[in-house]
Amino acid sequence: MNAKIIHFVRQLYQTNAAIPLHAPRFIGNEQRYLADTIASTFVSSVGKYVDQFEQQIEHFTGCGKAVATVNGTAALHSALYMAGVQAGDLVITQPLTFVATCNALYHMGAEPVFVDVSATTLSLCPQALLNFLQQQAATDAQGCYLKSNGQRIKAVMPMHTFGHPAALDELLQICQQWQLILVEDAAESLGSFYKGQHTGTLGHFGALSFNGNKIITTGGGGMLLCASATDGSRAKHLTTTAKVAHRWQFYHDEPGFNYRLPNLNAALGCAQMESLEYFLQQKRELAMHYKAFFAGSDYQFIDEPAQCSSNFWLNAVLCPDQQRRDDLLQHSNDAGVMTRPVWQLMHQLPAFKHAVRGPLQCAEELALRLINLPSSVPEAQ
Ligand SMILES: *Cc1c(COP(=O)(O)O)cnc(C)c1O
Repeated sequence: MNAKIIHFVRQLYQTNAAIPLHAPRFIGNEQRYLADTIASTFVSSVGKYVDQFEQQIEHFTGCGKAVATVNGTAALHSALYMAGVQAGDLVITQPLTFVATCNALYHMGAEPVFVDVSATTLSLCPQALLNFLQQQAATDAQGCYLKSNGQRIKAVMPMHTFGHPAALDELLQICQQWQLILVEDAAESLGSFYKGQHTGTLGHFGALSFNGNKIITTGGGGMLLCASATDGSRAKHLTTTAKVAHRWQFYHDEPGFNYRLPNLNAALGCAQMESLEYFLQQKRELAMHYKAFFAGSDYQFIDEPAQCSSNFWLNAVLCPDQQRRDDLLQHSNDAGVMTRPVWQLMHQLPAFKHAVRGPLQCAEELALRLINLPSSVPEAQ
């Protein structure tokens, strides 16, 4: 099977060269907009491309207000700040995620609580969340707290793993019932829709990433998605040093962040957004090839959840067991076809190993058998 998989991936990409997991594609106006930015001298923290990029994302996602940030972690940090998360608070998230999710809340002085993922979405499981809350939490006039020590639970932060949307309706309903704010880590899911609504726009706040390995890139960059335009204006103010607009005075009305996305990076983002529909269509086609290839084998392709449209950012399959997953990792990487296991689970990292948690069987099982396959948009032949 390993040789067949490697051969199949080489056919998909029509190359004998090394095949990375995810490489960016620059097929549109990238060079033009970058040259234009340099010619204008507005390469830094303000410029027309920043505004334009925010508008393009607002238009595409349908969020109330989008605020460009220097990376996805900064967008998550701003989202948690806006959500009112404070030092000592708890934020419920999933153990199967990239470390940025937990780093963002760590830097708020908050602590993660780990709740299991579901096998169908790979993202936070509503039933596991409800079980955790019913067993370990309660609410009072100030909101939700952990019964064992009274620590406040402020928010729930699901992550749409590899672009597959979490069960947002169910999560939203639980959040409402338990007085929790929903912050979506949509870093991987630009172009993924849940029942027709863009991921990152169903909760109070969402965060996108435009790191080099994401579906579109600005080199480095992120975007905070705010459901309410009022929150959006305040977030823009906070992330741009909280400076009160004035022609010459430097007056800052509260402590702010310098999370501004440079105009140079935004220019790249504007060009990439023009290719997004094409990328989505190409990535869906690629995913369907993988799906057909693995159909009927004992390798299970991770498909999009029901009533969702995934961006298929990173294709993934579940191997029959850990041994065969490890064999495939070895063979494919030796053959220049990059594959990789899922991230080390967050509750197994030194920084978060003491975190409060529910049962995490599903995440632990997935972590042993899951493998990511090359998922770049193929170069036009
Ligand atoms: C990429 C990513 C981020 C943000 O990463 P940055 O490199 O800071 O842009 C956050 N969460 C997840 C799950 C990611 O995959």
